[in-house]
Amino acid sequence: MSKVVLVTGASSGIGRAIAITLSNAGYKVFGASRSVETGLVSDGVIQLQLDVTNEESIKKALSYVQEKEGRLDVLVNNAGLGMIGALENTSSRQVEEIFQTNVYGVLNMCRAALPMMRQQRSGTIFNVTSIAGLMGLPFRGIYSASKSAVEGFSEALSAEVNQFGIKVIIIEPGDFKTGINENRRIAELQSSVYEPFQSAVIAQVNREVNDAPDPSLIGHALIRMLKKNHPRLRYKVATPFQRFSVLVRDIIPDRWFETLVKRYYKM
Ligand code: NAP
Repeated sequence: MSKVVLVTGASSGIGRAIAITLSNAGYKVFGASRSVETGLVSDGVIQLQLDVTNEESIKKALSYVQEKEGRLDVLVNNAGLGMIGALENTSSRQVEEIFQTNVYGVLNMCRAALPMMRQQRSGTIFNVTSIAGLMGLPFRGIYSASKSAVEGFSEALSAEVNQFGIKVIIIEPGDFKTGINENRRIAELQSSVYEPFQSAVIAQVNREVNDAPDPSLIGHALIRMLKKNHPRLRYKVATPFQRFSVLVRDIIPDRWFETLVKRYYKM
């Protein structure tokens, strides 16, 4: 019997690549996002209309999966929004939007899926964070904070639900070539005091994503994790340089690391 998978944010980028890769590998995949029509099939993935910030919408989508398949084996919490710009220029409305999607969205999905998984006494929840969640990157403070929040509660959740046969795995991607730059929010309060650094960082982030690998890599990595009896809590899916930056952050004094980050971004 094929495992039943639900991937959020499957209309684009990493989520789409994970959904298609898993479907090609024989999993029964529901690909959820706000912009699709429930029940249509695209590239082997069953489309599911779902807004992770809306608990009614989540309930409806999960009832659909329950009705069709009677179970949910794997939940991939991938839906997310990028955000760039100086903290001082970020409005509270924007902070709320990012946290609603990147943090509350993941929490909402976990809360809604757990009863089904507990009943089955099995299941795997993947929460997609970012290398940017492991450090406070300049001009990406809100994005970094939202991903750090998911890092924290996922670790706690793992210890809580392991007794029910449920595994929680945190995926920490580096850069991947997706629609994240086009879809991201830019700090809306107008001020030029952070120029030219803000523009330089935006240009650098754009280059990093445009030159990054194809996100299907993450789909294949997920399949390998699903086949493990004892998967780790965290997996970085990133270049050696990005992994090394996390290691360096952990071993050198914070101020030295801050200097390195500023040099890297030419600030
Ligand atoms: P993307 O191409 O912009 O895709 C984002 C996806 O999230 C879309 O399918 C979008 O679909 C969905 N989404 C946004 N808000 C939603 C909501 N309220 N409810 C349901 N779905 C929603 O971005 P991506 O790069 O693939 O990003 C996917 C995840 O990877 C994010 O969590 C991101 O933070 C993380 N990540 C990305 C990178 C990278 O370099 N690309 C690096 C590290 C981490 P609709 O708009 O159709 O709803």
